[in-house]
Amino acid sequence: MSELRIIPRAEHPISRGYIDPDALKVLYRLHRSGFKAFLVGGSVRDLMMGRTPKDFDVGTNAHPNEVRRLFRNCRVIGRRFRLAHVLFDGGKVIEVSTFRTRPEPEDPEGAGEAADLLIRSDNTFGTPEEDALRRDFTINGLFYDIATFAVLDYVGGVADLEQRVVRTIGDPAIRFREDPVRMMRACEFAARLDFQMAPRLRAALEENRREIRRSAAPRVTEELLDPLRRGWGAATYRLWSESGLLAEIFHELDREVGIRAPASPARTAFWRMIEDIDRRKAAGEGFSDPVLLGVLFLPLVFAAVRARPGTTSRLDPSRVLLVLEETVNPAAVRLSLPNAAIHEVKQALFTLGRLVETRPGDPLARRLVTKGYFTTALALLSLYASAAERYRDAAAAWEDVLARAGHRLRPGHDLLASVPFPEALVPLRQPSGRDEIPAAPDGDEKARRKGARRGGRRRRRGGEKRTAGGAG
Ligand code: ATP
Ligand code: MG
Repeated sequence: MSELRIIPRAEHPISRGYIDPDALKVLYRLHRSGFKAFLVGGSVRDLMMGRTPKDFDVGTNAHPNEVRRLFRNCRVIGRRFRLAHVLFDGGKVIEVSTFRTRPEPEDPEGAGEAADLLIRSDNTFGTPEEDALRRDFTINGLFYDIATFAVLDYVGGVADLEQRVVRTIGDPAIRFREDPVRMMRACEFAARLDFQMAPRLRAALEENRREIRRSAAPRVTEELLDPLRRGWGAATYRLWSESGLLAEIFHELDREVGIRAPASPARTAFWRMIEDIDRRKAAGEGFSDPVLLGVLFLPLVFAAVRARPGTTSRLDPSRVLLVLEETVNPAAVRLSLPNAAIHEVKQALFTLGRLVETRPGDPLARRLVTKGYFTTALALLSLYASAAERYRDAAAAWEDVLARAGHRLRPGHDLLASVPFPEALVPLRQPSGRDEIPAAPDGDEKARRKGARRGGRRRRRGGEKRTAGGAG
C-alpha cells in the first residue's frame, strides 16, 4: 500500500555530526550486532528541518530483551508497551523501541460510524514499514538508517515537510478516534512548526473533537502543559480554541479567553501572559507547572470574582478566597491534577491578592516570603502585572524583597512529576486566617476525586496508558 522512498545521504541534510553521540553509539552497536537500527520520530523530523531535537529515539528489530543483552546500562520498562532505556552519564536516556504494528481496535465487530476504535493495547512487534504506518503524522514517520545514512520515507513525510503540512498517516477520522490526543498534537505541531493542517485533518478534527473526552485525563493535562513549558503556548492555545478542542477540554477557560469569547481585560491579559511565557522560554527562562496552571486558572478566578456583587478589586484576596473552591476544584478534578498541585495553585492565587494588597514593609506580609508557594504567586503577579499593566509597583517591590533575601525568582521543579511539596500537604490552620487559605480537600472533594479515579480505572482496566479512556 505504501511506497518506500529512499533519500540517499547526498540528498538530505542529516549529518552524524548533529546526532547525539550516545544515540550514535546505540545505533552502531545494534547495527554491528546484525539488527536494523534507525533514528525515528521527532528527531528525524527536527534534523530534516535543521532544528535541534529534544531527544533521539531509536527503532530496531531487536526485541527489548535482546537490546538489554547488548547494553549493560539498560533497563526494559513498561508492561504493555515494552521499551528499552539505555542509560548514559548525566541521566541521559536513549529510548530504544522495537518496531511495532498498528494495533487492532478492541471491538472490531462494531463497524460503521459508532465503532469503538479506541486503542487499548499496542505491543505487537512488526516490520519497519508497519512501524512507520502506526505513527501519528507523516512528518513523524520518517527513519534515518545508520546502515546507509539514508532517510527512509514510507509515509510521504518528506513531501509534507517540504510543503509544511501536518497530515495524519491514513484516514484522519479513524486515527483521531483511535487516539483523540492526536487532535491536540496536530494543533501543537502546526503551531510549533508553523505548518498548515491538511484540509481533511481539519475537517476530521472538527467532526471528532468531542472524542477528546474519552482520553485519559492525565495525558490530556500533560498535553495542555507541554506547549506552555516548551515555548509555543500562545500559538497552540489559539489553534485549540479555534478548532473547538479547548471548549471540550477546558470549557471554563475557553468561555473566558477563547477566540469566541467577548473581549475583556482578563482575556487580553491571558494571551499577553502566555506570549510572555513563550518569549521568556525562548530567552532560556522557564516556569514551574504551578505557575503555568495558575495562568490557566486566573481568568476563571477573575470571572467568578466579577460575578459577585460589591467587588472592588479583582484580586481582593478575601473575594478570591470565596471563589477559589468553586472555580478551581471542578476543572482540576476533571483534569486529574494531583491534590498537591491543586492546593499549590489555589494557595498561589490567593497569595497573589495578598501581594497586591500588602507592601513588603508590613511585618505580617513579610512572612509570606518564607512560604513554599511565594515564588509561584510572585511569578504569577509579575506575569500579570506586565500583561495587564497594573500592580507593577507591587511586583517590583516583592521581587526586590526576594532579591535582597539572596534569591532569584526561580521556576520550581516539575510538580506533577515529582514529590508533592510538603507545604501543600500540611493542613494550614492559622488563627489569623489571613496568611493561608484553608487546608485542601474536605471529605467532599476527596470523595469526588475518588469517584473520578475509580471511573478512570474502570475504563482503563485492560488498557494501555497511551490510549486508555477515562477523562469523564
Ligand atoms: P517532541 O519533539 O515533542 O518530542 P516527537 O515527535 O518526538 O516530538 P513524542 O511525543 O516524543 O513526539 O513521540 C515520539 C514519536 O512517537 C512521534 O514522532 C510519533 O512518531 C510517535 N507518536 C507519539 N505519539 C503518538 C500517538 N499518539 N499516536 C501515534 N504515534 C505517536
Ligand atoms: Mg520526542
